[in-house]
Amino acid sequence: MTQETSSFADLGILPSILNAITAAGYEEPSPIQIQSIPLILAGHDMIGQAQTGTGKTAAFALPILTRIDPARREPQVLVLAPTRELALQVATAFETFSAQMPGVKVVAIYGGAPMGPQLKAIRQGAQVIVATPGRLVDHLSRNGGLLSTIKYLVLDEADEMLKLGFMDDLEIIFNAMPDERQTVLFSATLPASIRGIAE
Ligand code: AMP
Repeated sequence: MTQETSSFADLGILPSILNAITAAGYEEPSPIQIQSIPLILAGHDMIGQAQTGTGKTAAFALPILTRIDPARREPQVLVLAPTRELALQVATAFETFSAQMPGVKVVAIYGGAPMGPQLKAIRQGAQVIVATPGRLVDHLSRNGGLLSTIKYLVLDEADEMLKLGFMDDLEIIFNAMPDERQTVLFSATLPASIRGIAE
């Protein structure tokens, strides 16, 4: 394989995000980032096989943040994660990457915490929602239109979500979103069931 040098700037990441990731110590994109960022920026759906530690979070977060419209104060991005820990970690990454994008807000939605502050962040115009499926379904039962403006859906650690029995919740969530959206799926393993939800 030829070794192509590619920088985050060459990949087409927004300058304000480049400043933020440089401040966070990122120098060069990882292989999964080099492969995923151009596809996601071009608007394609994608399935990526990636373990934790490969840089998969930035692989989807950087191009999606490059494409959102910060002036629109409504949910545009939904990231689903199997656990509260991963949801918080992904939300923190989005906050770090968007630190120099005025007006961008991120909310983490997970169980075991009061609904109030989560609802408030949504009402205040968060564009990025990072959620565990169960708690998101609770929010949807109170506000069925919550996801009606989502343009980008990411399923992070999709195999773990299926193992934890979230399939029914995922169906409810998919049905609450517009069909016209870009979907990105990352999973450590790609069994037939994962290809099934990708369909
Ligand atoms: P992840 O696989 O998304 O959980 O990322 C693993 C760790 O690598 C996280 O601490 C990231 O902040 C870090 N990381 C991801 N991409 C890069 C990069 N291109 N350069 C330096 N660190 C990175």
